[in-house]
Amino acid sequence: MSNPIIIGNWKMNGLINETKHIVSTLLTYTKKHQNFAKTILCPPFTQLQLVKEMIKNSPLGLGAQDCHYANKGAHTGDISPAILQDIGVNYVILGHSERRKDHHESNQLVLKKTVAAQNNGLLPIVCIGETQQERNANNQESIVEVQLKGSLPEQFDGLVAYEPIWAIGTGLTANNEQITEMIQFIRKKLVAQYGENGKKISILYGGSVKPDNVKDIYAIPELSGVLVGGVSIIPKDFIKLIDIAQEFIRS
Ligand code: PEP
Repeated sequence: MSNPIIIGNWKMNGLINETKHIVSTLLTYTKKHQNFAKTILCPPFTQLQLVKEMIKNSPLGLGAQDCHYANKGAHTGDISPAILQDIGVNYVILGHSERRKDHHESNQLVLKKTVAAQNNGLLPIVCIGETQQERNANNQESIVEVQLKGSLPEQFDGLVAYEPIWAIGTGLTANNEQITEMIQFIRKKLVAQYGENGKKISILYGGSVKPDNVKDIYAIPELSGVLVGGVSIIPKDFIKLIDIAQEFIRS
């Protein structure tokens, strides 16, 4: 991997004090280093504005964890891509397995959100991945293929995150062989769908990425970066992920 992208998905974590602590610790790191991996923070909606203010004039990027497909209207409790764009968010995670499960999000809904995000100038990070049961049945490729076909639009300008559900928040990490196989499979499907453009789409891995396994993951040549949950709210460990990425940066 060269020039890794590191995306921190805070999930439903980050009180104001915690947010200030995480971001200020990261800023201390970024001030001491000139050239490091592209790092995007995805706090809960309510902390986006605070994080936006704090990371102003820093190289850190900002993402949200979801959005609606409509730009405005009668959708109580939802946040639109237009609102995200308005406050200066650049990325949005879509189709995360926790949303697919907790909110019954279908591929069709993820597709609508992806289109809406793109139309508002946001870069969607579309998550796909199989359950343990599906892997046990050796169905990971067909599951991921259906998710790719169903969730990605005709014109796609975003990133894909391969996140095997059995590895998310469990401490179980897919091994390099499993990740490589799936990344190659996803690439093949992206090229079939988008031709030359499919070669340029960044593919990330997510699932219990930690300081002690990240070096092996960065070493996978086909991968563009990592999507990190649990470790993203532990600043000293998250910084280690950024630090270890240093040696994979090519100018
Ligand atoms: C995630 O939330 O996308 C994720 C990969 O979580 P964790 O790193 O905790 O497994």
